[in-house]
Amino acid sequence: MLIESRRLLLLKSPFMRTTPAQKELAMIEDAIRQCVKCPLHKSRLNAVPGRGPCPARIMLVGEAPGKQEDLQGLPFVGPSGKFLDSLLKSVKLSRKDIYITSSVKCRPPKNRTPRPDELRICKTNWLDRQISLIAPKIIVLLGKTAVKQVLSLDANLNRLHGQLISKDHLHCFITFHPAAAMRFPQIGAKTQKDFRKLKQLLNTQTDLFSNCIAT
Ligand code: SF4
Repeated sequence: MLIESRRLLLLKSPFMRTTPAQKELAMIEDAIRQCVKCPLHKSRLNAVPGRGPCPARIMLVGEAPGKQEDLQGLPFVGPSGKFLDSLLKSVKLSRKDIYITSSVKCRPPKNRTPRPDELRICKTNWLDRQISLIAPKIIVLLGKTAVKQVLSLDANLNRLHGQLISKDHLHCFITFHPAAAMRFPQIGAKTQKDFRKLKQLLNTQTDLFSNCIAT
């Protein structure tokens, strides 16, 4: 029933799935909704595969679904999602151009940080395949967990935020998680600055971001 309702949602969504990569991504998203590969499936209501176009110029990776995401099966729809929307709007970027997902697809109990085995299993089964199909020009990593998941870096975010790091042909821009930016004004100010820098990169790095539309 839930899977069917997600399918209906997809059919109504602006993200049409017709190319082989799009069809494979849709299959992966369906498989994620039924995934029981790590212990996090036990406490979830809905897995949250992600949402957005394929291919996408920008991919955004957070930590894990929260309460609202778990309820709705959609990424960044709670308070931190609204904050993310305001950050994107402030630099004239739109969700419709971005594929948004998280490091693990199921909500950890009491919103705890995902464990290393959960991160590893979700990455090798799903996130790596999503990145490969979506082929983003830039991946925006929101917070320490996303940096660890994609770059295998135990990052000091205060040192690394606002930087573009390339690894294995992936170009990753590092910033704070919107939940932290929302709660702590100093982090919020740094995150705003990072998003302005991201927009500058999108505007100027035409070789790296040749397919990016910077509005
Ligand atoms: S977190 Fe990832 S690996 Fe674990 S059950 Fe959910 S989709 Fe599967």
